[in-house]
Amino acid sequence: MKYSAITLCFIMSSLLVLLLASRARASQPDIFTVKVGDIEVSMLSEVQRDGSPDILIGASKADIEKFMPDRSYKSAVAAYLIKSPEDVVLVDTGFGREIERNIKSLGLQSSDIRALLITHSHGDHIGGLLKDGGAAYPGAKVFISKLEYDWSAQVRESLAKYGDSVELITPGTLDAPGPEIIKGVTPIAAYGHTPGHTIFLVESKGEKLMIWGDLTHVMAIQAPRPGISVTYDSDPDQAASVRKSVLKFVSDNKIPVAGMHIAYPGIGDILPDPDNLGGYKFIPSAK
Ligand SMILES: [Zn+2]
Repeated sequence: MKYSAITLCFIMSSLLVLLLASRARASQPDIFTVKVGDIEVSMLSEVQRDGSPDILIGASKADIEKFMPDRSYKSAVAAYLIKSPEDVVLVDTGFGREIERNIKSLGLQSSDIRALLITHSHGDHIGGLLKDGGAAYPGAKVFISKLEYDWSAQVRESLAKYGDSVELITPGTLDAPGPEIIKGVTPIAAYGHTPGHTIFLVESKGEKLMIWGDLTHVMAIQAPRPGISVTYDSDPDQAASVRKSVLKFVSDNKIPVAGMHIAYPGIGDILPDPDNLGGYKFIPSAK
């Protein structure tokens, strides 16, 4: 069999692209796991990327120069898997592009997911609810705040495929989380990013982790300046007020946090920032 020079060149360049793509995937970690008492929480990454400060509301030029001098920041799209002795739970579903693959690489199947906790109804969180027109997690009971469900026609349409396995919840507050929906997991209202945005406190054997959904999108500037919101926030003022409260709460109580848009590893600690009054530092967990 003979190949022309052009065909050979095409084959060689295709092989090179495949090789580079596989290397890029190998060097790009997708999963990061921490222990919270008896519970394992894993970040399942779908996207890791650099973002632009154009989405910020009210950031001064000086703040941008100080906290993101090259005018870009690290961001992500992720879901979180909670694996306890009793349950396998997924918090959000990402766009639905890579989460199933990540679940499989943990030795699980989509059908193993017993509960889905939805922080809110934007496409990068509920895009994976459906697969081939049906429920992507057919064995799961879905928990979502009633406010969010009532607000979003898109989520109501997707959740129709889950039939009567949908439970509408009323999240608690920082001072009184709950009621517990899954053993060790309590919902807390964090409205503002969307009208029913909900965050989840995971607790086991005295250890805690706050999975805070979209409380922040740009950690580089929203940790030191929690009053800065983004254009994705439905109510920027309410979002800023809630961000300040939650940051203070986790900092005061030394509760690590996990966020859907925090760059890999997606999990870390919040400490007061002595250089920025009312601001905080995010210290990523050791990778
Ligand atoms: Zn989001």
